[in-house]
Amino acid sequence: MHNYGIDIWGDDNFIIEGSLVKVNDGCKPALLSIVKEIRAQGKQGPLLLRFPHLIKKQIKNIFQNFHRAKEELNYQGNFQAVFPLKVNQFPNFIEALTEAGKAYDYGLEAGSKAELLIAMSHIKNSAPITVNGFKDREIVELGFISALMGQDITLTIEGINELETIIEVATEQPNSIPYIGLRIKLHSLGVGVWAKSGGINSKFGLTSTELIKAIALLKKSNLLDKFTMIHFHIGSQITDIGYLKKAIREAGNIYADLVKLGAYNLNTINLGGGLAVEYAQNSESRKVKYSLSEYANDIIFMLDTITKSKKVKAPDILIESGRYAAASHAVLIAPVFELVSEGYLASDLSLKETNPPLIEELNDLYKNIDSRNALEYLHDALDHLNSLLTLFDLGYIDLLDRSNSEVLGHLIIKKSITLLQDQNYKELLHIQNMIQEKYLINFSMFQSMPDFWGLNQHFPIMPLSKLDIKPTRSATLWDITCDSDGEISYDTKNPLFLHSINLKNEEYFLGFFLVGAYQEVLGMNHNLFAHPTEATIKIDNEQYFIENIIESPSILDILDNLNYDTLRIQKTVKDKITSSQLIPDHLRSKTIDSIEIFLGENGYLKTVK
Ligand SMILES: *Cc1c(COP(=O)(O)O)cnc(C)c1O
Repeated sequence: MHNYGIDIWGDDNFIIEGSLVKVNDGCKPALLSIVKEIRAQGKQGPLLLRFPHLIKKQIKNIFQNFHRAKEELNYQGNFQAVFPLKVNQFPNFIEALTEAGKAYDYGLEAGSKAELLIAMSHIKNSAPITVNGFKDREIVELGFISALMGQDITLTIEGINELETIIEVATEQPNSIPYIGLRIKLHSLGVGVWAKSGGINSKFGLTSTELIKAIALLKKSNLLDKFTMIHFHIGSQITDIGYLKKAIREAGNIYADLVKLGAYNLNTINLGGGLAVEYAQNSESRKVKYSLSEYANDIIFMLDTITKSKKVKAPDILIESGRYAAASHAVLIAPVFELVSEGYLASDLSLKETNPPLIEELNDLYKNIDSRNALEYLHDALDHLNSLLTLFDLGYIDLLDRSNSEVLGHLIIKKSITLLQDQNYKELLHIQNMIQEKYLINFSMFQSMPDFWGLNQHFPIMPLSKLDIKPTRSATLWDITCDSDGEISYDTKNPLFLHSINLKNEEYFLGFFLVGAYQEVLGMNHNLFAHPTEATIKIDNEQYFIENIIESPSILDILDNLNYDTLRIQKTVKDKITSSQLIPDHLRSKTIDSIEIFLGENGYLKTVK
């Protein structure tokens, strides 16, 4: 059957059993059961489910692979990792992550004051904190406070002026000086996709000349003992490990030479993030060309070789992989609330006594279509439909004729797909483009998958049920924003097939997977659709538990967030209802009650009455 590429992107986290997709852990609950249970509590609209066991799995994978590679190559440096907070700062994620990371002293990376505050308050003192990004005096002082609290914090400087600020603050507070890292500019990445974050013209880091200056400055200020780390980050989603290897070669040599230049406490290379996630749903679209095990082996082998040949101590290795740690833990589930062509019913047909000849022909095709002629008739029908629409534009047929043409066209498409789905599936594939069904989905792409809109990033999509039935409708997905960009159109390279369903009798949910990295905090409130309702799902061998439900913000909360005076809005609306001559007196208080209920609920569509 059709498995939606779950064997490519799923990493054994989800399995298909019978008609359902299930979480491959403990009692293996079906996603559909979890969703139904949450919706039964009155939570409608899209749902974001978090699975802490998947966060734990990724963290464990990272540490186990590096520890194994370290042992195999008898590498003398240590391994550490931090989670870069910019990838996901939502509390129910961060709390699960820091809990799972305790056993490994998994740390946090901060790129702003707010993120630093999260880091300072969420991990043990033995776990590292790194601070990247541009810094003013205030964030430097915050770093000194963290050091004063006994935390293992490294401020990575992006430019000499930041180092000057650190020296200034250190003169005033010599008791609690954080470790200092220097971000390096690599020439090896001056071209290609990552020139912006890695190359010699990149936004970040010090050139070799500046590095030498920085060492002299540190020496002069008696801070050389605090300089412990060099750092680079070539970019996110590195699908080809060749880029990283080039960077390591260069960084390894810089490390060795800085040690030789007298940086006697320099002991760590921070390689940033970039560990890639496979989002493909078919094997031709696969992008990631290496495994975590290869990644760990390559890093350790190369640093071992370089430092041995330059006769310096092997450095500790620190990585900042975010996407890899976070992506798999979250699944967005959204209900389909309409199929556009399901709106075209035989009962809508309103043929005249005499119809234009092409419409008569369409009607004949519809009446006589059977499994032998279906493909031919379908082709003819699509042709006729096109001609009829042109005739309408030219004024030769009227609106009723046009409506009849469209109804007949859709009826023929539906009937032929049913007739063809078994024997001529392959032939049907050729014309999928012309006969797509449009599925309206109760979610906002701008809120829940901004990278699809902004970067064309594909996310795996599949229905939660009917997986024992062959899906035959080529699907275009429309979200509920009023923006024509809010669409995932049918793509012949990445075709999505869904089921024909009658939404009057059954519900149909789509799952969007691997949305745990970047999507949540980049999500925008376009049309004022806010973060979806979220829940944390914990699973053991007997049952699962739904915890930490946070409902999507109410309409009033959303307006409040934009700094509207919501009290005034409520009062104005109430006053207008109270004084309106159009509302009969006995309905006045009922109308006010209804509006209060609406304003207190979330802004997504209510699809169940
Ligand atoms: C964004 C970022 C990361 C995380 O990158 P991923 O691709 O999510 O692993 C790590 N380090 C720095 C400095 C970053 O800016």
